[in-house]
Amino acid sequence: MAAETDANRKLIAILVPCFNEEAGLEALVNAVKTGLVDGDISQRYDFELLLVNDGSRDNSLAVMKDLRQKHSFVNYLNLSRNFGKENAMLAGMDYSRGDAVVIMDADLQQPVEVIPAMIKKWEEGYDDVYGISPKRPKESWVRRFLSVNYYRVLKRMSRVDTLPNVGDFRLLDRSCVEAACSLRETQRNTKAIIAWIGFDKAAVEFQKVESMRRSRFSIGSLLHLAIDGITSFTTAPLRFATVMGMMVSFISFLYMMFVFVRTLIYGDPVKGYPSLAILILFLGGCQLLALGIIGEYIGKIFKETKRRPPYIAESLNGEKIRGNKSER
Ligand code: UDP
Ligand code: MG
Repeated sequence: MAAETDANRKLIAILVPCFNEEAGLEALVNAVKTGLVDGDISQRYDFELLLVNDGSRDNSLAVMKDLRQKHSFVNYLNLSRNFGKENAMLAGMDYSRGDAVVIMDADLQQPVEVIPAMIKKWEEGYDDVYGISPKRPKESWVRRFLSVNYYRVLKRMSRVDTLPNVGDFRLLDRSCVEAACSLRETQRNTKAIIAWIGFDKAAVEFQKVESMRRSRFSIGSLLHLAIDGITSFTTAPLRFATVMGMMVSFISFLYMMFVFVRTLIYGDPVKGYPSLAILILFLGGCQLLALGIIGEYIGKIFKETKRRPPYIAESLNGEKIRGNKSER
């Protein structure tokens, strides 16, 4: 008991964004309890579990309330609606206490047993200890294909080094958390933000466990996240549109010269409908693509200029929140 009142003991917050997780929350709390709160590591550290209820439509909130009554290390933050995992993680970082924050998923795909290894790296002086899972768990080939290629494209385009097989599972020193919280963009990509802020990084390997439930992200929502991830971190697609425009103009110019010379030599027998149709369709397609890319960025500018907070927190441990931290 004496240890618990020691003010010098460091606190580590386990941050878990939760969307419709009623079925898994108890297992999560138990895993954190046996692995950390009652584990060997508890001799040196205190832990808090911060559950962020991201507008669940099931009974998650009631389950959280219940778990809080049973376990004092459980805290829960309730958002006013579903803001998406990225914003829920920001909310959690804003409200988490502690000298370090560990972010993990509610479905225990990342084993709690890895966290002491992360803490060890943190003690060695690393500020951002990320989990890397070289072997992917069973998932559909569509997901795997999209994921692998997405990171390839993102890396090529943005020069921000977001690694494949690295998720949001990581330990962040308080300094990293503050830096990440100071970036208040509403269309967040936490992984890219953490890569962008820098700091000393270290990897800890773990084996991703197969999830007991279906993913909360559909292929469609992942596609949106992917486009957001690229457009919020690089303007390379705009450059691509420019380069493509230049190339197409150049080729068109050559073709124009060709048609001009041919007409001079052979006259103009009114033919050429197919080539005309092809040109119109091709150029029209290029223009639409470029417009779409520009539109993506204008949409981003539009959303950010409204300066809305990235999330709205309603209550912490059942108590109404006044003066939202999200409007910094
Ligand atoms: N999540 C969230 N808000 C959402 C969607 C998901 O907070 O809108 C949480 C979810 O509860 C889980 C984590 O994000 O804790 C990862 O979700 P999931 O395991 O379904 O995704 P996966 O990465 O395994 O496909
Ligand atoms: Mg999962």
